[in-house]
Amino acid sequence: MPNTESSINPFETAKQQVDIVADLIGIDGGVREILKHPKRELTVNFPVKMDDGSVKVFTGHRVQYNMARGPTKGGIRYHPGVTLDEVRALAAWMTWKCAVVNIPYGGAKGGVVCDPKHMSKTELEHLTRRYASEIAGIIGPEIDIPAPDVYTDSQTMAWIMDTYSMQKGYSVPGVVTGKPLSLGGSEGRNEATGRGCAYVTREAAKDAGVRIKGGTVAVQGFGNAGSIAAKILYDEQGAKIIAASDSRGGIYKADGLNPHSVEEHKIKTGSVVGFPGAKAVSNEEVLEMKADVLIPAALENVITAKNADKIQAKIVSEAANGPTVPAADSVLHQKKIIVLPDILANAGGVTVSYFEWAQDIQGYYWPLNEVNSRLERVMVQSYNDVHKVAQERKVHHRTAAYVVAIQRVADAMRLRGMYP
Ligand code: NAD
Repeated sequence: MPNTESSINPFETAKQQVDIVADLIGIDGGVREILKHPKRELTVNFPVKMDDGSVKVFTGHRVQYNMARGPTKGGIRYHPGVTLDEVRALAAWMTWKCAVVNIPYGGAKGGVVCDPKHMSKTELEHLTRRYASEIAGIIGPEIDIPAPDVYTDSQTMAWIMDTYSMQKGYSVPGVVTGKPLSLGGSEGRNEATGRGCAYVTREAAKDAGVRIKGGTVAVQGFGNAGSIAAKILYDEQGAKIIAASDSRGGIYKADGLNPHSVEEHKIKTGSVVGFPGAKAVSNEEVLEMKADVLIPAALENVITAKNADKIQAKIVSEAANGPTVPAADSVLHQKKIIVLPDILANAGGVTVSYFEWAQDIQGYYWPLNEVNSRLERVMVQSYNDVHKVAQERKVHHRTAAYVVAIQRVADAMRLRGMYP
């Protein structure tokens, strides 16, 4: 949850967030210092044979931030802009995300500096397999479990699972999550982020006296997380989806859009834009629209000091990572807008990844209804934990979520004591 302007070093932000919460809850000395340092980092430079016969050297990182609460967990990102500090920050945020939903994991993240849009599938497979071999010594079902992130997907995870299994001499499905169903993936994983977001939105609405049934919802970013959150709020909670957008623009319909039809239109035409019967609106208008719930589900840093004052939603449910900059948080709080922070609102994805891993290591797979009801239990409990702290400490829900998460990690560290 890179809750920062892009010019700021994200790891500096991540450390400042620890300091703010440590001051608030009285974590000092060694524990505070440990919370501001990644436990283990591995940088690898490795060759890949490209399709034209040339050899290119790539750089990859894997950072395991904190393992006090269990094996570490976090995605692998392929992007030209990957830096070690970005991976460190993302690994710290994964630590807090796993802790806020109380799953028995620490946080990690990986990244390879590459431009996947300009690489063939064969080149990506070679890069993935070599990177997986280079980090194989520090990953594993009991150590660190990667998952997909930006420009990596279930195929990438299948290659990592295969590479790791070949080295071991037997199949190890629990080494990664986000795998295809036929290789030990979990039912419900694909929709887990949007579903989790819909559950916490429902709970917050109850507490805030906002009616979801018949209430209005605007979604910025009608992709995996956003469209699924919209469909679940519409199908299961009776919400009216009045606006949706993607990178090409937005659509608005006062008496509500059917998100299933919008999705079909997007699949057919590549965008929500031009949906029959809807009015064209800009992405800014979607954010600033009068709606009960706003779901930013696209990019970082879209709610800023500049537009925070214009946000009219009663609840902002952050399906995206880092959509709100820190300066906007206090403005929204003053306006009494409830912000469900990314580390809570989009933690459904990592929660079902945890379920996937639990199923893999048991070799026993659950039906969809079991996955969803367990997810619902985790999300409702996590929301309640955060809401309680927000009320007790009179802080906004983002600070409360950090308090819950960092306290849990610090408690685990204290109980374990210091080795040797
Ligand atoms: P996605 O690619 O499926 O969807 C992103 C959507 O945002 C697309 O519809 C895209 O057109 C739209 N978009 C891009 N630029 C935009 C812009 N300038 N204005 C408006 N819309 C724009 O991605 P996703 O998996 O749904 O991820 C979305 C966000 O949710 C990211 O921040 C991601 O980190 C976060 N997230 C996703 C998951 C998950 O399991 N999918 C888990 C945790 C967090």
